[in-house]
Amino acid sequence: MEIVRKEGPITGEQIADRLHLTRATLRPDMAILTMAGFLEARPRVGYFYAGKKNDEIFGEQLRKMHVKDYKAVPAVIAETATVYDAIVTMFVEDCGTLSVVKEHGILSGVISRKDLLKVAIGKQELDTVPVSLVMTRMPNIVTVTGEETVYEAARKLVENAIDSLPVVKVIDALTKKFEVVGRFTKTTVTKILVELGSNRDI
Ligand code: ADP
Repeated sequence: MEIVRKEGPITGEQIADRLHLTRATLRPDMAILTMAGFLEARPRVGYFYAGKKNDEIFGEQLRKMHVKDYKAVPAVIAETATVYDAIVTMFVEDCGTLSVVKEHGILSGVISRKDLLKVAIGKQELDTVPVSLVMTRMPNIVTVTGEETVYEAARKLVENAIDSLPVVKVIDALTKKFEVVGRFTKTTVTKILVELGSNRDI
């Protein structure tokens, strides 16, 4: 890449010469670099540096990263818990959205800060109202699986104007029976951005 960048257009033979290799040894590597779009080959001219725009490389990077490798531990509360319990759990878990679950960690809804504020406006007793009454419930919950990419997950957050996605394992797709195995939030995305930003190769 360095040779082509400095001296291109340059023929395969000349590159092989510089590296003290045969043309045949070099051919598979040149094919990979050409297919990946880093180099371009023109007949009778040779190789020259095509480069990739930074945003293309960044986009590719995001599509290679999977939710399972970046998700946070789940923050859950039982369906039968009260709104008061939900507020306490949010403080203890230091998060703004909880997955509401039934037996065996099966997702039944999501409760966010705004849902709790709604209860406050209604001036209802916090320790008598069950979370199931104020949560957003299945099947209207936007979820993500560990196998989906970070890009897909971030897109879901933006398109649905929400802060958090339950990461789920599909138990039964037909009846939408999902087990909660993690969470993917705007904080997760920010952490990924900081990680990518500190990587000077990108
Ligand atoms: P906040 O309440 O902190 O603004 P959100 O913007 O995420 O947080 O929540 C707004 C509304 O969307 C709430 O009523 C909440 O129940 C609902 N909600 C949050 N996450 C999801 C999700 N993954 N799928 C469907 N609805 C959600």
